[in-house]
Amino acid sequence: MNKATTVRKRFWIPTILFASTGFLAITAVPLYGIIYGYHWHQWIAFLIITFICGLAISAGNHRLWTHRTYEAHWILRLLFSLFSAATLQNTTLNWCSEHRRHHRYTDDNDRDPHSSARGFWHSHLDWMMHEYPSNKTDHSNVPDLKQDKIVMWQHKNYLPIALGMNFSICLLLGLITGDIIAMFLLAGVLRIVVNHHSAFALNSIGHYWGGKSYRSDISACDNPLINIFCFGEGYHNYHHAFHYDYRNGVRWHNYDPTKWLIKALSWLGATQKLKRAPDRKIEAALLEVEFEHTQKKLQKKDNDPSRIEILKKEWKLFFNTIKKWREVDVKISTLNKVEPKPANEINSLNAQVKEFKLSLKAQKKRLRAMLKESDKQSSLSSKINTQENVT
Ligand SMILES: [Zn+2]
Ligand SMILES: [Zn+2]
Repeated sequence: MNKATTVRKRFWIPTILFASTGFLAITAVPLYGIIYGYHWHQWIAFLIITFICGLAISAGNHRLWTHRTYEAHWILRLLFSLFSAATLQNTTLNWCSEHRRHHRYTDDNDRDPHSSARGFWHSHLDWMMHEYPSNKTDHSNVPDLKQDKIVMWQHKNYLPIALGMNFSICLLLGLITGDIIAMFLLAGVLRIVVNHHSAFALNSIGHYWGGKSYRSDISACDNPLINIFCFGEGYHNYHHAFHYDYRNGVRWHNYDPTKWLIKALSWLGATQKLKRAPDRKIEAALLEVEFEHTQKKLQKKDNDPSRIEILKKEWKLFFNTIKKWREVDVKISTLNKVEPKPANEINSLNAQVKEFKLSLKAQKKRLRAMLKESDKQSSLSSKINTQENVT
């Protein structure tokens, strides 16, 4: 290979930023703690500001501006733009442009800015530190954001806003907690490092390890472990399947503070028009992946052709249920627009939806039982084969 072709131009500003903050976080931060100690209220201040800045990225840059999953009051957008600048993750305009490309061209090495197919290191940090054809600035995919005065104001004044926010956060918290240096280390250095790597982990770990319940054709995974540090963004497989949903943790019990924040703010009128993926599509995606998985396994073993036939029948049943469900959904949304609402009719249609859900649940159980049965038979026949070979 020609070595000259692999040498890439280095972007020095992000390189120095990541190296210096990372170095200080593992040297100066613990050293200061050992010598002078940190008070518990300094740790609380660190946690609160880390959360606020992280949420500005997840609820602001990500779910509001990149994916347009809801609408927000200008005061909230201003706060998002200020605190997301404080995380030093590039301007909102650049951030969203890159993230839209990531969704559109996931795993395409030439077009996905942080394609995990190029390797873990590339998707975590390297894509920001070296020039690649995939990370060239191109704002052609964010025309809507160019119309947003707050986004453009932050884009044009990024450096003074980012520096101003970081200094004022540390100074203010330092004055409140009584130790300015401690807060520069915790709420400044350590918070920037935590915000950086929790967001970057989604591009790396979130595309390497975890479940793929909603889409099996891409590298994005649902990873409950990194989800703890990513403000609910760890349900990354779901998010890639339904990027227009304001929720990433779609179940009510899923840990997703970003979803809770957006929902809570809607009660105050600060957010509105929250978009959700229809239950029908979510349940269909789940079962489709289950079908793919079952089909692959059965074809691999090929131990009973009758099972493949049953699977085909199950597919048919699945498509019919989804088709009927779609029709009912259309009827419900039409009736919901009628005034006064025909409650009885809507209720009976909702009862049908419940039945569809139960029917898909039952199908899932049957598929799993079929796989179990097939596993049992193949292990039995391999045992018989071994015994025959021995005798
Ligand atoms: Zn992704
Ligand atoms: Zn996204």
